[in-house]
Amino acid sequence: MKKTDICSMTRAELEALVSAMGQPRFRAAQLFSWLQEKGVSSFSQMQNLPLSFRTELASTCYIPTCTMDTKLCSQTDGTVKYLLEFEPGEFAECVVMRYKYGLSICISTQLGCKMGCSFCASAIGGFKRNLTASEMLAQIRTAQADMGERISHIVLMGTGEPLDNYDNVLRFLRLVTDPDGLNISMRHISLSTCGVVPRIYDLAKEKLGLTLSISLHAPNDEIRSKLMPVNRTWGIEELLRACKQYTLQTSRRISFEYTMIDGVNDSDACALELAGRLHGMLCHVNLIPVNSVRETAYRKSRAQRLRRFSEILEQHRITVTVRRTLGEDIDASCGQLRAKKLAASEAIQTE
Ligand code: SAH
Repeated sequence: MKKTDICSMTRAELEALVSAMGQPRFRAAQLFSWLQEKGVSSFSQMQNLPLSFRTELASTCYIPTCTMDTKLCSQTDGTVKYLLEFEPGEFAECVVMRYKYGLSICISTQLGCKMGCSFCASAIGGFKRNLTASEMLAQIRTAQADMGERISHIVLMGTGEPLDNYDNVLRFLRLVTDPDGLNISMRHISLSTCGVVPRIYDLAKEKLGLTLSISLHAPNDEIRSKLMPVNRTWGIEELLRACKQYTLQTSRRISFEYTMIDGVNDSDACALELAGRLHGMLCHVNLIPVNSVRETAYRKSRAQRLRRFSEILEQHRITVTVRRTLGEDIDASCGQLRAKKLAASEAIQTE
């Protein structure tokens, strides 16, 4: 019989589990606290549970764990990147960044990615599988224990497309924000998507207080479809319509990510077209110089180009931030470290 991943279970599911085992309901709260607040790695540590119950739990359920394969610390900005191994040969990365307001972690939601954006290292090696809610939680727990400091902010911007793993991501969001769990405020969480439109409508209905980030990267279908295959399914017009609906239902400002790539999407004409598209929307634009990924030919826009592009947006009353790039010396962009690891292990296998 396949054992159940108990760390991905909601309170209601734990209640059903303990009652099926003939235990009183309060055992579910005790279990939840051991799993989500204290983050124990074995049933034997759950000292206030009867031994027979712990044994029974261990025979039907398991607590997933991961091991730290690699840790890289940026020499310039304090960014720390972890490569974690879940099952043997299955790696996911997460990155911890230090800001004025505290520590923020960027976590992965899938092993690999199906979306195939041409500038992104996550596409290299294709898609392996979805991560479970507990595997997303484990990234935070492992990094937090290693940093020895509380992580207060989360961005779902690591490898994978969160809205292509919707149910697990939603489960994760409910668990990580639980006051008896890691207790991270929904206001401190950003979810980034390349634009899986039907799921944006679904997410809007959940009315969560998180920030929705849209990886836009282009002002029109012509450029966007070249960079991001997802745009061939849901074009810009449809995507922005979903964003407007999201704001209507949640009153939350949308954050648009725009990766600046030299000669591809960074002209004055692009800035003007973008300003036109976003006119009247409750939004914010983040301009990010593209991180060069070895496998692609894309190069960063020049500083002067970034400035000019942001000026044009501001002139059209669109709020914009030019993002610093963090962790460049440690391959901190999505999927870069994982791609390297996979390439290295393939090289070993074919030797
Ligand atoms: N699939 C989701 C989340 C993961 S990517 C999404 O597409 O939003 C997180 C962000 O990093 C996205 O905005 C993505 O477009 C961006 N990104 C990926 N590769 C990059 C690179 N080489 N340089 C700069 N940003 C990159």
